[in-house]
Amino acid sequence: MPAPLMHIESSPSLPLQADVVVIGGGVVGVFTAYYLARRGVSVALLEKGRVAAEQSSRNWGWCRQQNRDARELPIATKSLDLWKMVAQETGEDTGFRRCGLLYLSQDENELAGWAKWRDFARTVGVTTHMLSAEEATERGKATGRGWKGGVFSPSDGTADPSRAVPVAARGVIAAGGTVHQHCAARGLELSAGRVSAVVTEAGTVRTKTVVMAGGAWASSFCNQLGIRFPQASVRQSILAVAPGAKGVPDALHTARVSLTRRGNGGYTLAISGRARVHPTPQQLRFVREFVPMFSRRWRSLAPGGLDGWRQGHETLAKWSPDEVTPMERNRILDPRPDLDQVNLTYRRACELIPEFRRVTIVDSWAGYVDSTPDGIPVIGEVEWIPGFILAAGFSGHGFGIGPGAGHMVADIITGSEPIVDPRPYRPERLKTAAWGKVAEV
Ligand SMILES: Cc1cc2nc3c(=O)[nH]c(=O)nc-3n(C[C@H](O)[C@H](O)[C@H](O)COP(=O)(O)OP(=O)(O)OC[C@H]3O[C@@H](n4cnc5c(N)ncnc54)[C@H](O)[C@@H]3O)c2cc1C
Repeated sequence: MPAPLMHIESSPSLPLQADVVVIGGGVVGVFTAYYLARRGVSVALLEKGRVAAEQSSRNWGWCRQQNRDARELPIATKSLDLWKMVAQETGEDTGFRRCGLLYLSQDENELAGWAKWRDFARTVGVTTHMLSAEEATERGKATGRGWKGGVFSPSDGTADPSRAVPVAARGVIAAGGTVHQHCAARGLELSAGRVSAVVTEAGTVRTKTVVMAGGAWASSFCNQLGIRFPQASVRQSILAVAPGAKGVPDALHTARVSLTRRGNGGYTLAISGRARVHPTPQQLRFVREFVPMFSRRWRSLAPGGLDGWRQGHETLAKWSPDEVTPMERNRILDPRPDLDQVNLTYRRACELIPEFRRVTIVDSWAGYVDSTPDGIPVIGEVEWIPGFILAAGFSGHGFGIGPGAGHMVADIITGSEPIVDPRPYRPERLKTAAWGKVAEV
């Protein structure tokens, strides 16, 4: 059950050569290609299925600074500015609006945590407003109940996951890059230890620089090159209701259920952080690294079945570039939504906001959210394969920070001043910092 998604046309033919080849047509790969193409770099973007058909169309659409880890806050802030500019640059609507995000709570501890984050955010110039009980109750009046408090972050917003990334992909083509859907990258060729080509199912593209932005598939691809990238994904389920609910905030988080207004006037409903963990060969390989993360989030996690194993994205198998790979056998990672959770989410939404009783569920889907052990993405060149840049492990935050991440990869490749300090994202940190600080959801 795919999420709603705008279709875009691919470029007519795969080039024989490109300055940069980007693997993966999610938000990270597309924005990397976008900022490279706009700088006049020849770039080819490869997507095994459809642009944005995996995580990048299945998310809530939140572009937030609120409650971000200190390591990620600078890129979140820059990304909000970039989101605004994309619409001007492409002349197309990505659905981005700084509508502000509203958080409501009945829990003193949760409120204290938000207040602590507000104090930290102030020190880096980010404004967020703690709400008194009266203010929270007023802003949350659609719920018809009183609240102990809340937060409103006015400079945050949402973009439309059904169209934002396809719009940027069209921007890649408009700026002179090429986009190739239904074109899996099978592997790399190296000469004298550095990248010299990408082998795809449709032919070989000579290049000195490759960006691996394959989302949940990144670690299995790295494994072909002998790169150890600890990555795990969990399955989250989500649903959309028809337009018609009146007086509901654009974006609201509560402990029991969260909601986001969609481009068509309907709402996306979800339970924050709730997910199923599926045992896979890769999960077993990296289990030690993920103990801190999974033990911190165990209350929201439940065991899944063997679906993750069957999907093939977390295989440890090696393949040869002249044979069909798992990426071609599974063009779009499209896990089944957890129907018990979908029904629970809808029930909770109706309890929270009675208006939702007037509208029906029109869609539900699931997505595998890929994560690193510390919950912070990896963005940077892999030390011992010059020309191979890894940009993956966005840990449930990639949609909002995708433009900043893509900009930073383009900065690294073109030797420009990085848009933010790239050090927190260095791939090498995972060798030593696997047991480091785990970011909040
Ligand atoms: C239910 C849910 C809710 C979420 N909510 C939010 C939110 O509100 N805000 C937020 O910021 N983030 C959110 N996220 C997380 C966010 O969607 C992801 O972090 C982000 O989309 C990851 O982008 P990506 O480009 O790294 O990966 P993806 O979007 O998964 O894209 C990777 C692409 O690479 C392709 N690919 C892989 N291997 C190859 C290959 N070898 N050759 C060619 N193509 C390949 C895949 O087909 C895929 O299309 C949510 C995620 C989910 C599932």
